[in-house]
Amino acid sequence: MIEELFAPERRRRLVLKRGKERVASNRHPWIFAGAIHSERGPEDAAIADLVDSDGAPIASGFYSRHSQIRLRALTFGDEPLTPEVIDARIAAAIGRRSAILNAETNAARVIHAEGDELSSLVVDKYDDVLVVEIANRGVEQLKSLVTAALQRELAPRVIHFKNDLPVRALEQLSTRDETWSGRAATDASSAATILENGLRFRVDPAGGQKTGFFLDQRENRRITRDLAAGKRVLNLFSYTGAFGVYAAAGGAASVTNVDVSAAAIDAARENHTLNGVDGEFLVADAFQYVRQRHENVDFVICDPPAFAKSRNDVERAARGYKDVNLFAMRMIEAGGYLMTFSCSGHMSLDLFQKVIFGAAVDAGRRVSFLRRLTAGPDHPVSMYCPEGEYLKGFLLQVH
Ligand code: SAH
Repeated sequence: MIEELFAPERRRRLVLKRGKERVASNRHPWIFAGAIHSERGPEDAAIADLVDSDGAPIASGFYSRHSQIRLRALTFGDEPLTPEVIDARIAAAIGRRSAILNAETNAARVIHAEGDELSSLVVDKYDDVLVVEIANRGVEQLKSLVTAALQRELAPRVIHFKNDLPVRALEQLSTRDETWSGRAATDASSAATILENGLRFRVDPAGGQKTGFFLDQRENRRITRDLAAGKRVLNLFSYTGAFGVYAAAGGAASVTNVDVSAAAIDAARENHTLNGVDGEFLVADAFQYVRQRHENVDFVICDPPAFAKSRNDVERAARGYKDVNLFAMRMIEAGGYLMTFSCSGHMSLDLFQKVIFGAAVDAGRRVSFLRRLTAGPDHPVSMYCPEGEYLKGFLLQVH
């Protein structure tokens, strides 16, 4: 029984080092091993309580003995951590998406880890399929609680546990995907066709990158549709081709999608077909492509993968971002747009802005910032955990 994992004797007790009181008073949910003086209780506990050296409660949350983040705090001070708290947070997170989910959009991130006060739990809704990513051993043990809450709130056809996060190996958790099907589903496949701002996309959580579709770009894609009329659009790092579909739907004169992965290009083609729009589809390295292309374009979207996977990669990543943005700027017709992103949490907004500035200088173009871009409101960022804000972008005009 899940309730038993919350019983006092099943919880790990962590004592904070003297002098580390600030970690918890800031309400940051990540309590690192280095801040902990001693531990006792069951090593495989799902839940742990952090106390100070006098035994006063500081925080409670998900426990992992394998992670440097020993505790993922959910409650602070005297607030007890019970199954009901987790149920209530799941319900509240889903409730916050009601303004996004409507007749035109049936896909959204319904739980965004720290941003929804549920550190290490991510849930994406793709129509009647839910895709769950769990990055912590404590949460993994509470899977049946999470599943029951999701069932109650959203009655999905299938829940797909996407278990390929590299951190799961460190947590000594299975890295094989699992699926759960509800409503006596006759179709247990986790593939879905979603509707986003009235456009249709095929999502395959089992085969796709991350959870299958980048929901964080929904609003930026809408901006793309609004700006695309009559433009020659180049969609670099196109993956599912979603920016391309929006551009075409917005009346672009032409849309070229470029991705190094043949499977991604196939998906992009399928998504254009689904929406009855045309495009060009190229399997190519975007860095080489922008160097070799001679014809000008009016609108470039540049949404590369996270070049900086760790802090040590930041400098190399900055060169990559500068390079591709510089060549993109050179090919933009005067008055045209560049929508450019970095989704790497290690690249700060400040540094990314400097990189784009450097690209503009070296491209010899006059560039203005029209708008700062970020993830949609289904990717909330916790005030106490600013690390959650990974996606940053700019809409630029190139003169
Ligand atoms: N813009 C997309 C998400 C991009 S994800 C969307 O809205 O959904 C990053 C994509 O970049 C992946 O599909 C990956 O295959 C592709 N990619 C990685 N390196 C690349 C390279 N050097 N050239 C072109 N595409 C690349």
